[in-house]
Amino acid sequence: MLESHPAEVAAPLLNALQAELAERATLGLLRQRRVLHGMQGVHVEVDGKRLLSFCSNDYLGLAAHPALISAMQQSAAVAGAGTGASHLVTGHQDAHEALEHTLQAFMRMPGILLFTTGYMANLGIITALCEREDAIFADKLNHASLNDAALLSRAELKRYAHNDLASLERMLAHSTARRKLVVADAVFSMDGDLAPVPELLRLCERYDAYLMLDDAHGFGVLGKTGRGVLEHFAIDSPRIIYMATLGKAAGAAGAFVAGPKTVTDYLMQTARPYIYTTASPAPVAAAAMAGVQLIQQDDARRAHLHAMIHEFRQSCQLRRWQLMTSDTAIQPIIIGSNDDALHISKCLLKSGILVPAIRPPTVPKGTARLRVSLSAAHCSADIQQLMAVLHRLEAV
Ligand SMILES: *Cc1c(COP(=O)(O)O)cnc(C)c1O
Repeated sequence: MLESHPAEVAAPLLNALQAELAERATLGLLRQRRVLHGMQGVHVEVDGKRLLSFCSNDYLGLAAHPALISAMQQSAAVAGAGTGASHLVTGHQDAHEALEHTLQAFMRMPGILLFTTGYMANLGIITALCEREDAIFADKLNHASLNDAALLSRAELKRYAHNDLASLERMLAHSTARRKLVVADAVFSMDGDLAPVPELLRLCERYDAYLMLDDAHGFGVLGKTGRGVLEHFAIDSPRIIYMATLGKAAGAAGAFVAGPKTVTDYLMQTARPYIYTTASPAPVAAAAMAGVQLIQQDDARRAHLHAMIHEFRQSCQLRRWQLMTSDTAIQPIIIGSNDDALHISKCLLKSGILVPAIRPPTVPKGTARLRVSLSAAHCSADIQQLMAVLHRLEAV
């Protein structure tokens, strides 16, 4: 017989959670969601206010593109809303198959495997390839999903200082692990800089390691035809396991792994986040395919994004705050203290501009920043509007 009512049994837990939430609130770390009305874009209606947004990862402005919307509608009409099963049961529909073929032709890589999200792809790849007797060498600024995956795999996790090849080489040279996997964001999500991919690959060759690249922010943006970081550096190797997401530049949702066919065949059999989840809806795959086709066919969008990046960097002449070195759509401005970064973000909001303040622990202490992200949907006037307010705030 239960000695106390279930609500009372739970009370210590609820009290502990309450206390932690209160502590976060005191530290100004409580995060709040905003409600977006209507479509994603650079002009959004958030909590009832029209704002100019520099927040989204919709780098090519495809999230609300008519081609993606119509692909989604048409697919829903023939394939339905839900898949009802995992890929390995009966959830793998024509739309998924077609998207994998499109990606295979575009990426020119023999193996392609879709995942429902980038987070799940990272968990799936790393836990399938690495076990207790293996070692993972990860850049300190890697995305949280890669770190979570490494911990879940139970392999030894060695983190090297950001882009520090000498430190990585020392770790590789000392390792006696069965398998060695070097893991890096191709474009770092809070800094916007690139991993030195050719040098990482050379180290992998020298120490018989494999290289996993997370190109969430490079796919569609980097490379002459938008194939991402591998095209940018003109490299190709059977040692590379490439992963990119379809919810950023591609405008939809989902992710894929590309690499040797043996790797993707193996992942299909063993990656638990692939096997034990319902396949994502066919209309999502259809929209992603329309997004990938636009990436392939419409170089003008990518060219305009790069023109916006150039214009932003040219007109961002700050004295107190430091614009970081980045050639990608992610353009962070280091402010320093948490309070200052928050204050500036709030002032921008009052002027109708949405730029997120990123604070520790997401970034190192003392480097709180504004994370400006640019899109092909921005125009010159948008950039000038942001710069005018930033320059005015800096002069205060
Ligand atoms: C967004 C992101 C992911 C996660 O992808 P989702 O599809 O949003 O789950 C993984 N890695 C990096 C570097 C990202 O920026």
